[in-house]
Amino acid sequence: MPEQVRDRKRTLLELHVHLEGSLSPGFLRTLAERYGQPGVPAACLTPDGSRYLPVAGFAQFLERYKAVVSLLRTPRDYHEAALGLGAALAGQGVIYAEVTVGYGVLHRQGVSVAPVQLALYEAAAQVAQERGVRMLWQADAVRQWGVDAAWKALEAALRCGPGLGVVAFGVGGDETALPAGDFAPLLAAAAREGFGTTLHAGETGGAESVREAVLAGAQRIGHATAAGAAPDVLELMAGAGVFAELCPGSNVATGAVACIQEHPLRAFLEAGVPCCLNTDDPGLFGLSLRGEYARAREVHGLSEVEERRMQQEALAACFAPIEIRADIGTKLVGDS
Ligand SMILES: [Zn+2]
Repeated sequence: MPEQVRDRKRTLLELHVHLEGSLSPGFLRTLAERYGQPGVPAACLTPDGSRYLPVAGFAQFLERYKAVVSLLRTPRDYHEAALGLGAALAGQGVIYAEVTVGYGVLHRQGVSVAPVQLALYEAAAQVAQERGVRMLWQADAVRQWGVDAAWKALEAALRCGPGLGVVAFGVGGDETALPAGDFAPLLAAAAREGFGTTLHAGETGGAESVREAVLAGAQRIGHATAAGAAPDVLELMAGAGVFAELCPGSNVATGAVACIQEHPLRAFLEAGVPCCLNTDDPGLFGLSLRGEYARAREVHGLSEVEERRMQQEALAACFAPIEIRADIGTKLVGDS
């Protein structure tokens, strides 16, 4: 069967994608017009407004992120963002996505969480009905804003809960700001309430940062890139069954790896660490999940079997309730 036909049929799972990082250039321009902020797209986009400008390193990426997020202000904005992401996911053959929403950011911007989460829940229901893509939500705290702010984010997430599609709690941001262990009590509390847990680590920090995140109790690690060069940390992850949400294209875009060839995807596969590919911030980086898999096939020799195994491992590691997992499992079987 020709490659493009197989590719079109393939169903994929996305476990690491930030809603705020998924905004298309067009939607960013719409928001900027809505709030009279032409300076944001002027600073973030190419002169014709069709693409985001590249970033020079992680610090500039965080600045870019902050500028984009400043234009998400109301439940309507979030609702429209979620519909846009749902459409993009459907176009790539994604049948299930866990989408991260910055609860810490909402708090800091003085936006009420519950109406936003309700808008996201309603958008996800619409996307499921119209496009067949299931979207659930991960509430995210920001590491550098500290443990107290993270507790506040977790409490808001628990109040929303699975009834509004929230199934997980994570901590992102600058992993070098505070040790992962500081967040261990939060991860334990989240897990006790039935939430999945994930920490960003090994993106800008080293392999020790990944080890700390595993020891802090995270069920999944966002990025985990630096662990690829540390066989003992890979062994720890494989032994504990801690899942790696790999984001190769994002790592290239922020300079976490020098080029795609240097992403240690194969080290994770060879060490038996369960993992899948993800886009992280597909809007800001101009990435698609299909594109990520296509590039991994080309650069890392990712085989058809390995790609399918990643989807099965993503299914095993996802935080969806049982009925949604069963539905995804049926679709994956139908795809093989
Ligand atoms: Zn991320």
